[in-house]
Amino acid sequence: HAKSCGKNNAKLYSSSLTMQIMSHVKLEVGLRKALKREELYLLYQPQIDVSSAEIVGVEALVRWRHPERGIILPTEFIPLAEETGLIMPIGEWVLRTACIQAMAWQRHSMRPVRMAVNLSAKQFKDENLTQMVISALHETGLDPRLLELELTEGTLMDDARATMVTLDQLRAIGVYLSIDDFGTGYSSMNYLKRFDVRALKIDKSFICGLPQDSENAAITRAIIAMAHGLKMVVVAEGVETGEQLVLLKQYGCDMVQGFFLGAPQSQELIVTMLKKQSLVALPAK
Ligand code: C2E
Ligand code: MG
Ligand code: MG
Ligand code: MG
Repeated sequence: HAKSCGKNNAKLYSSSLTMQIMSHVKLEVGLRKALKREELYLLYQPQIDVSSAEIVGVEALVRWRHPERGIILPTEFIPLAEETGLIMPIGEWVLRTACIQAMAWQRHSMRPVRMAVNLSAKQFKDENLTQMVISALHETGLDPRLLELELTEGTLMDDARATMVTLDQLRAIGVYLSIDDFGTGYSSMNYLKRFDVRALKIDKSFICGLPQDSENAAITRAIIAMAHGLKMVVVAEGVETGEQLVLLKQYGCDMVQGFFLGAPQSQELIVTMLKKQSLVALPAK
């Protein structure tokens, strides 16, 4: 009895595993065609300067409009893209599309807005990365200072020597470099000093409990103090409430990003936001 029970379980397990693998393979097949079929698109989330209350940048966030499943978020397909190497053509498409968009906004005679693009570890390690970034900037005409590349701690810490070389090359182009999801990986403070990137983005997991969570508050304050000590700009991600914004302003945080300031949205809506002088009435203090 026990044996058949176990057998049944094994069978159940293996069939659900088969289904998992099949849906994974199906997704991969779909992802291979997604670019050509123009199923990928970008949304843009505003980044607001705390002292001026103006939009100073946007972050490009990729979405997949799947023909059967509807909209698939990057947390689901970016890991698959990394596993399969599809991140290379997808990442290049994201970078070019974002640069073209930034130029289009500029041509509509609006003030320059920095465009932030996420780079995956695989892209960062690619020996053609620098050339790819140079061509994207050259072909679209975007000022390198208006392109921000977001890297994670994991990407940077993997091979410090190679990282240093790539960062030097990217800095030479003049692009703006930042560390994304800061506090969730394991950065060595020593490397942080040597890497010399412009901005730190505090991960949203530290912001989400504010202002009640006193430990997250302590961590957030410490990151801001450290970053400023290293002459870096600090961005808080995942700002969802006015209370969080007030607190972050008190802490001296430079920039904020999150649902309270605006969700990731279409380029048309970003244009509307950019046309307004100020997005939100920030507290006076
Ligand atoms: P990320 O770079 O840290 O981007 C911020 C994520 O937080 C986005 O999720 C955004 O929609 C979400 N978010 C923004 N404001 C709030 C908020 O107030 N509360 C909460 N809870 N979440 C907020 P999204 O768009 O699903 O992207 C998830 C991750 O996927 C990104 O995290 C990034 O690591 C990756 N990703 C997105 N687009 C690309 C891309 O083009 N290339 C690569 N390599 N990775 C990408
Ligand atoms: Mg990011
Ligand atoms: Mg992040
Ligand atoms: Mg990230």
